[in-house]
Amino acid sequence: MEKTLIILKPSTIERCIVGEIISRFEKKGLYFTGLKMMQLTDELLVQHYSHLADKPFFPSIKASMKRTPVIIGIIEGKDSVRVVRQMAGVTIGRDAAPGTIRGDYSMSRLENIIHASDSIESAQTEINRFFQPEEIFAYQLTVTPVLYTADELTNQ
Ligand code: ADP
Repeated sequence: MEKTLIILKPSTIERCIVGEIISRFEKKGLYFTGLKMMQLTDELLVQHYSHLADKPFFPSIKASMKRTPVIIGIIEGKDSVRVVRQMAGVTIGRDAAPGTIRGDYSMSRLENIIHASDSIESAQTEINRFFQPEEIFAYQLTVTPVLYTADELTNQ
């Protein structure tokens, strides 16, 4: 199954809604094959947000992302990169559609609850950045046969 990476940002920890957000993915039929709490550093943030590192607001991103530890997870499921990104919603919480995580929990651009990998390639890079191989687990959900048709499970 395809893997993607999420980061539950400091505002999610501070607002005590980690469980609610994780529960959304579980209810959807996605499952975690890696999950941990971690304190981000400037070095990791420069790598992770390299496309924003020269922006004037990058110091605000760093301060926000380092305010508390974050929760980092690997989520697995068919087309998980696309599905999780859609569940996260667009960047600015005020613009994100109701029903998405940002749409339901955020009013902000910076304090927008969650990071989700934006492509299969970046998911792999981000998983390698944040997880050691021994922190990633392989198992099958017992409910897989009722989450997908046999056809969906054989056709990638
Ligand atoms: P996304 O997280 O939706 O993939 P980006 O990769 O463009 O969006 O930005 C990464 C994160 O940086 C955003 O989730 C948001 O927290 C923050 N960010 C992006 N643009 C701005 C901005 N103009 N001002 C403040 N924070 C920003």
